[in-house]
Amino acid sequence: MSPETLLQKPAVQSPQFTTSDFDQYVMSTYARYPITLERGSGCRVWDSEGREYLDFVAGIATCTLGHANPVMVDAVTTQIQKLHHISNLYYSTQQGELAQWLVEHSCADKAFFCNSGAEANEGAIKLARKYAHTVLGIHLPTIITAHASFHGRTLATITATGQPKYQKNFDPLVPGFYYVPYNDIVALEEAINMLDATERQVAAIMMEALQGEGGVRPGEQAYFQRIREICDQKGILLILDEVQVGMGRSGQYWGYENLGIEPDIFTSAKGLGGGIPIGAMLCKSSCDIFQPGDHASTFGGNPFACGVALAVCRTLEQENLLANVRERGEQLKAGLNAVAHKYPGVVAEVRGWGLIIGLVLNPESELVSSTVVKAASEEGLLLVPAGPKVIRFVPPLIVSPEEIAQAVAVIDRALAAVA
Ligand SMILES: *Cc1c(COP(=O)(O)O)cnc(C)c1O
Repeated sequence: MSPETLLQKPAVQSPQFTTSDFDQYVMSTYARYPITLERGSGCRVWDSEGREYLDFVAGIATCTLGHANPVMVDAVTTQIQKLHHISNLYYSTQQGELAQWLVEHSCADKAFFCNSGAEANEGAIKLARKYAHTVLGIHLPTIITAHASFHGRTLATITATGQPKYQKNFDPLVPGFYYVPYNDIVALEEAINMLDATERQVAAIMMEALQGEGGVRPGEQAYFQRIREICDQKGILLILDEVQVGMGRSGQYWGYENLGIEPDIFTSAKGLGGGIPIGAMLCKSSCDIFQPGDHASTFGGNPFACGVALAVCRTLEQENLLANVRERGEQLKAGLNAVAHKYPGVVAEVRGWGLIIGLVLNPESELVSSTVVKAASEEGLLLVPAGPKVIRFVPPLIVSPEEIAQAVAVIDRALAAVA
C-alpha cells in the first residue's frame, strides 16, 4: 500500500495499548508514573488522554532544547537522509567536528564517543587504570569516589556509585573503589594516606561537580580546589562526572567552571545529544594514552548521534542559552524560596546551580519528595525526585520566564495540598 492510500484510509480507532499490556512485555526495572506520554513541544508534553504537562524533568536533565525543537528535527532529518552509521572503521566529519566543538568549549584536548553516561564513565575508569599501570606504576589502583554519588548502572559504575542500594544483590562488585563523604576534605586526605600505605594506592579521584541523583548537592570550591592540589602533588587523576550537570545546565558549559578548577578527565552524556543517545569521555593530552584496540564502541560517535549533538552544541552557543540558564535559574530559585516561606517547617533549603535546582524538604517533616512530585503532576507539572527528601527541577534550557512562573505557581498549590 502506498503512503497516499494509507493517508486516505478512514481513521480506525486503534485499540488502546494499556499500561498493563506494557507491563506484560517490558521488564519491571522501573516504577513508572501511570502517565503515557504521546507528544511534546518545547517545554510541554501531552499524555494519551490529551492532558498537557509542563515538563521540568526533560527526560532527566536530557532534552536540552526541549521537545520537537525545529533545530533537532532538521538535524535528525538531514543526517538520517545522508548517512547515519558507519562504525569506527572509517572517518566521519560529524564525529570530528563534535570533538572539536567540545575541545574548544572545555579544558579537554581529546574526546572519545560512546552512547550513555555509564559507558562514558566506564571509559574514564579504564583510562585511569591504564594510566595507573603504565604511567604511575600502580598495580592495584584504587579510584576514590563519594558517598551519595551516582555514576551509572553497569557493574563498574554501580561499584563507583557510593550508594549501597544500587549494588545490593549484584556482588561480587568490581574491585578498586573506595568511598569518602562528599565535600569533606579531611576524610579524603585520611583515605588517601590509608590507601597509599597499602598496595591499593590511589590512582584517581572521581566526583560529580554537583551531585545530581544524590540530592542536587553542589560541590564546594575549597574542597575541589584542594582535591586539584592533591592530584597535582601526587600526579594522580581527577575525573569529573559531568553527565548530568554538564552541557550548560549549571549556567556554565561545564560544572567544574563553577568550582574554579579543571579535571584531567570528564564525562558527558544526558544533555549532550538533547535526547539522542550519545556519551563522551574527554581528557587532557597529558593522559591521552589510549592506543588503537584499547577501547571501542560499535555505535559510539556515529554520524547520526554526532550530527544531532553538534546541532545541540551550536544552538547552545548561538542562542546564548547559558545566559537563559542563569537568568531562569535565578528566577526559579527566588520563586521557590518565596513559596518555601509560605510553608514554614516544610522546606529546608533551595539549592543548585543554573537549571539544576533542588527543593530540599525539612528532614524533620514526614513529607517525602514523591508525595510532592505526585501532587505537582496532578496539577500538570512533571518533576523528578533526587532521593527521598529532594525534588529536582531540570527543565529544558530553553525554558521561558512564563513557564518558570507557572511551575512555581504549581509548586505553591502542590505544597498547599500536601503540607
Ligand atoms: C544519569 C547519570 C549517569 C548515568 O547515565 P546513563 O546514560 O543512564 O548511563 C552517570 N552519572 C551521572 C552523574 C548521571 O546523572
